[in-house]
Amino acid sequence: MRPNPTDWIAQASALLKGHLVTQSSDTEPFLTDWRKRYHGNAIGVALPGNTEEVAALVRLCAAHGISIVPQGGNTGLVGGATPDTSGQSDVISMRRMNRIRSIDTRADTITVEAGCILAEIQQAAAHADRLFPLSLAAEGSCSIGGNLSTNAGGTQVLRYGNARAQCLGLEVVTANGDVWDGLRALRKDNTGYDLRDLFIGAEGTLGIITAAVLALQPRPAAQVTALAAIDSLDAALELLSLARAHLGPALTAFEIMSEVSIGVVRAQFADERPPFSPLPAWTVLLESSDTESEVHARERFESLLALAFERGVVQDALVAQSLAQSQAFWRIRERIPEGQAREGANLKHDIALPLAAIPDFAADAGQAIDQVLPGARLVVFGHLGDGNLHYNVAAPPGMAPNDLLAYQAEIATVVNDRVQARAGSISAEHGIGQLKRAELRLRKSPVELAMMQAIKQALDPHNRMNPGKIL
Ligand SMILES: Cc1cc2nc3c(=O)[nH]c(=O)nc-3n(C[C@H](O)[C@H](O)[C@H](O)COP(=O)(O)OP(=O)(O)OC[C@H]3O[C@@H](n4cnc5c(N)ncnc54)[C@H](O)[C@@H]3O)c2cc1C
Repeated sequence: MRPNPTDWIAQASALLKGHLVTQSSDTEPFLTDWRKRYHGNAIGVALPGNTEEVAALVRLCAAHGISIVPQGGNTGLVGGATPDTSGQSDVISMRRMNRIRSIDTRADTITVEAGCILAEIQQAAAHADRLFPLSLAAEGSCSIGGNLSTNAGGTQVLRYGNARAQCLGLEVVTANGDVWDGLRALRKDNTGYDLRDLFIGAEGTLGIITAAVLALQPRPAAQVTALAAIDSLDAALELLSLARAHLGPALTAFEIMSEVSIGVVRAQFADERPPFSPLPAWTVLLESSDTESEVHARERFESLLALAFERGVVQDALVAQSLAQSQAFWRIRERIPEGQAREGANLKHDIALPLAAIPDFAADAGQAIDQVLPGARLVVFGHLGDGNLHYNVAAPPGMAPNDLLAYQAEIATVVNDRVQARAGSISAEHGIGQLKRAELRLRKSPVELAMMQAIKQALDPHNRMNPGKIL
């Protein structure tokens, strides 16, 4: 059925008490992705205020044959929240559904609406003397609904796991417009298929997450951050192994940045000073979260670094002496994606590999990329502790960044072939969206693809939920 825009707009606007945006000047920010790589059209952007409105809207869309693109903070990096260009979809922005419903410090849980901004959930947890550990550079704008729908990772996965591991229960509006109340705060629930886990990481293709129960953690007594100068990926892995053995669960972050990545930050942010001079091939950012005290945290950390120096694993190291210095260390890491966006077009590969395979992969892929595009700059950084690299490629000096896009497919094949050959993943934490949809078909086995199709068909038989994404 072709949608009748006039009827739908009138009914949706009445249902949402006017919270429907249709003017192109107002819809524009919802129709372009963060990287400005995708631009779509929509019949309207709906901003429901509660779960019942979401459910009624989904039923209205179904009645009019309109497909739905859920959107949170629109910080996704694979075009998952951007509609296609047909103008036949309704973007459902969850940003008005931003209430913290409850917090339970006995059970250590927080119940939030899907549009809550991640940083606000972290703050609410801190007010209750608890930690909500999911943390990523987009935390000031991304929403928990988007985090769960992409199963976001971030900087604390090493210790606390990704978004899935933080979630106990969900409330979801299904593709039929029914409300599934799965807001259970249980740590154990083996009553058949795990529906919650189906919606986590589904990128809005199976239903709309409207609320979630999240697990909270004790707040650490102290956090200490350090930067270490390293000359090879092998040495970085040795440092990781030492840090794990020495700090145990206190090791909460182990991030890596290549010399080129820090160069991008220096070039794009005038106030940024290099941590080491000259810059080493690799800089590792380590963080330890200690349950005892600052003194204990520093002692453990300093003895780890002393051991690493003794074994020749680390060439230089800086331990943050204040919160401000620690934030300055993190800022370098967090500015890399923004620095790359300021530079212009770049080719992103968010990959996961078995740890032991990383040095060989990097050498092999680096050589092969240089053959395809001599002088290409490798902006490699990421969550090394999780085996997750952002293996990004920037234009060689002198080449206009946009000309790089002509190499996108060929370079993606070079990278993904090498990831697949080492039993890795072509999307560690950003998801598939539209960016990696074709690649997914090449990389998943027919058995996996058939099971995914069957799930989609069962839960969204009319393909109304975020069509053109993932599958
Ligand atoms: C500077 C920067 C740094 C980043 N760092 C990281 C990082 O370290 N780790 C990481 O994992 N990601 C990272 N990201 C990617 C991004 O922030 C995450 O994917 C985030 O989880 C997306 O949340 P969002 O609310 O912005 O979702 P959106 O971009 O709005 O949507 C993402 C996907 O989820 C779907 N969706 C959104 N809300 C819902 C809902 N309520 N119900 C159903 N589906 C929904 C959308 O349809 C879309 O497919 C980064 C992004 C930026 C810009």
